[in-house]
Amino acid sequence: MTLSDRINALSESQTIAMARKSRELIAQGIDIISLSLGEPDFPTPEPIKEAAKKAIDDNFSYYTHVSGYLELRQAVANKLKRDNGLDYTADQIVVSTGAKQCIANTVLCLINPGDEVLIPAPFWVSYLELVKLAEGKSVIVPATHEANFKVTPAQLKAAITPKTRLLIFSTPCNPTGSVYSRSELKAIAELIIQYPELYILSDEIYEDINFIGKHESMAQFDFIKERVITVNGVSKGFAMTGWRGGYLAAPLWIAKACDKMQGQFTSATCSITQKAMQKAMEMPQEATFGMRDAFKRRRDLLLSLMKDIPGFTLNKPEGAFYVYPEVSYYFGKSYGNTPIGNATDLCMFLADKAHVTMVPGAAFGDDHYLRFSYATSEEKLTEAMRRIKEALALLK
Ligand code: PMP
Ligand code: GLU
Repeated sequence: MTLSDRINALSESQTIAMARKSRELIAQGIDIISLSLGEPDFPTPEPIKEAAKKAIDDNFSYYTHVSGYLELRQAVANKLKRDNGLDYTADQIVVSTGAKQCIANTVLCLINPGDEVLIPAPFWVSYLELVKLAEGKSVIVPATHEANFKVTPAQLKAAITPKTRLLIFSTPCNPTGSVYSRSELKAIAELIIQYPELYILSDEIYEDINFIGKHESMAQFDFIKERVITVNGVSKGFAMTGWRGGYLAAPLWIAKACDKMQGQFTSATCSITQKAMQKAMEMPQEATFGMRDAFKRRRDLLLSLMKDIPGFTLNKPEGAFYVYPEVSYYFGKSYGNTPIGNATDLCMFLADKAHVTMVPGAAFGDDHYLRFSYATSEEKLTEAMRRIKEALALLK
């Protein structure tokens, strides 16, 4: 008996792989600074923890409705109205085990074998693999550094074929931190609406970590709303990565399909998590804003430290918590017998010599880049950049 072709074709998540490598090195007693995994280092806000404790004491411990209990879905709908000006009913909301499952549900529900999915690069690692799982074909649309890593309608138009069914992108973007403006989103929507079979999965999980003002949702444009699946969750904005709570808002027929899919895979996410999520949706947003401000300080610190590192070409991220420098200056150099041919080589070199881990750009579509997560303390960021600068000076 062998494993299925499906699992053999699937790549391991590179973000998770680098996080695992970091943990292994730490377990060996090596003093690693991990800038690999994108997860807030803050504790979950107290009111959310209290709501979860109460849920346990109240014995809220039974299966819920697959898409989440009604009050929670209503709280999500209220949040979408309050923050994003979006009108959804509770039955258009599906709460899942993280935004990741929302994306998986959507892709598996909309994509047939051979269907094409537009994925602007740089992209988040899992998009490609989930499309592969659905036997779809990812069509990568590269966004340039000069365009601040945002794709234009003209680029997307050139990639559309009669088989194109879905566009998947994130704003703010993991890994570049780029944020699409209202007019940029509108221009994309105006293109997509011309293709009746084309849908948009708008991954807005970094909504709360936006340094340039108000978050703009793709579904705000009424003319495209029936073709948009908005994905969001509590992992990033509420420091709840381990709780596994995400949600999507979609046209009813898509929400119903995702509910059916999820009913066969996992059923609802954890009932205690759901109560915690409801609190996150309803509580004042001060804790979230405080974390966002801390991320902004760290971004500014990291950018100023990186400016002193030779050969790092930078853009200015406007959201999320990643910096994504271009590092090809080091390609062709070596340390002893260790040549650096791409960003993956450089990443391994820095893990070994600087004891700092990050994720190579190959995971996001271009191995000329490194992704640094700055969801860690200012002290660690400062020390990590000191070590990196020292190690890079060894490359000749
Ligand atoms: N989308 C993007 C762009 C992400 O970076 C992440 C990170 N985990 C997710 C979706 C999934 O988030 P989660 O499953 O933790 O809600
Ligand atoms: N989204 C995070 C990251 O990109 C968490 C890891 C993952 O879910 O892949 O690092």
